[in-house]
Amino acid sequence: MKSANSRIYLSSPHMGGEELDYVHDAFTNNWIAPLGANVDGFENDLQDYTGRKYAGVVTSGTAALHLALILCGVKSGDEVICQSMTFAASANPILYQGAVPVFVDSEPETWNMDPELLERAIWDRIQKKEKPKAIIVVHLYGMPAQMDAILRIAKKYNIPVIEDAAEALGSSINDQKCGTFGLLSVLSFNGNKIITTSGGGALLSDQQDLIDKARFLATQARDEAPHYQHSELGFNYRMSNIVAGIGRGQMKVLDQRVSARRKNHDFYFEALEGSWLDGVNMDLESGIQNSDSSGIYFLEEPEGYFSNRWLTTIVINPVETGGITNNDIRLAMEEENIETRPLWKPMHQQPLYKNFPYYGRGVSDILFDHGLCLPSGSNLSNDDKEKIADTIKKVLRVKRVPT
Ligand SMILES: *Cc1c(COP(=O)(O)O)cnc(C)c1O
Repeated sequence: MKSANSRIYLSSPHMGGEELDYVHDAFTNNWIAPLGANVDGFENDLQDYTGRKYAGVVTSGTAALHLALILCGVKSGDEVICQSMTFAASANPILYQGAVPVFVDSEPETWNMDPELLERAIWDRIQKKEKPKAIIVVHLYGMPAQMDAILRIAKKYNIPVIEDAAEALGSSINDQKCGTFGLLSVLSFNGNKIITTSGGGALLSDQQDLIDKARFLATQARDEAPHYQHSELGFNYRMSNIVAGIGRGQMKVLDQRVSARRKNHDFYFEALEGSWLDGVNMDLESGIQNSDSSGIYFLEEPEGYFSNRWLTTIVINPVETGGITNNDIRLAMEEENIETRPLWKPMHQQPLYKNFPYYGRGVSDILFDHGLCLPSGSNLSNDDKEKIADTIKKVLRVKRVPT
């Protein structure tokens, strides 16, 4: 039993039950190493689930992104295009390589990389310096990016696409799973993701040579020789057989986790009398007011798009809530011991990244200013969800009363 006041988290780990059986197997066979049956099994499970031909599991999503950049030949001084609105881990590996990030804003339909601005950025970088070496596109909160348009532009300029699907395992576009778009795809199994191994990641591709090379680099780049010999710079990035055992157990419940998170989203939409955010009502600062709106907006799935709804995100229009902001809601929730978070602060606003090139038109800035992530774990109880919705409704009601 949970006590009445125990904290409600944004997204906490949710074990399925079979994880320990696989970990136990690893102990029984003494495969407590970065290779073994669980590593092979987990890679096979990821290939089967996504439809990608090859998968290599590593210590984190960040490590997978770093390897992806190396495989794309990114070196010191090269430019790499990256979605601005994302977690810093999407961009940090660019700096690990001594390369230069070029940030691109989001569009309002999916909150991911704006294809028009992407093309403008590529064109401008070619004029100013040279062609970017890779494009990192992210599926934020599980909503797939406009991959059709992005892949078409990448192909036109012959630039490889790295798909950061860390938040989007289980999402798809027209039944094609996220994790299968672009030259290389990245998954994360960090503790807050839709399934977790406590920490871990994967790199996926349809090209065997790339995944073979990733495995080689991830195990210290040891040349074929009886002694230790190295011709290339290696890393200690391979996932252990213990951790991979947790992953095998989690894969059995992945579809249940997706369905639970989608139900959370639908619950909040109903309970908060949500409206769909679109390109028109996105312009919150102009003070647009719709009298039948509660002022709480949600992101709709474009046709053919399927989001795992990793986190339910809302955008609050203060003009329609009588001045209540995302920050008011966050503070009221904190008083009830409920964790919420602002949306990702765009990289072009981050102290570390603000001096790098940026192509935008203010969409991610508006989302950051007005958005909020609600608790979205697949293990939330109905009571938890009722408490969350009631707390938000209470804040909205209090301030709406005319004084
Ligand atoms: C979590 C996350 C990562 C990093 O994954 P780790 O496994 O934590 O290293 C990268 N990109 C995005 C968008 C993420 O949400």
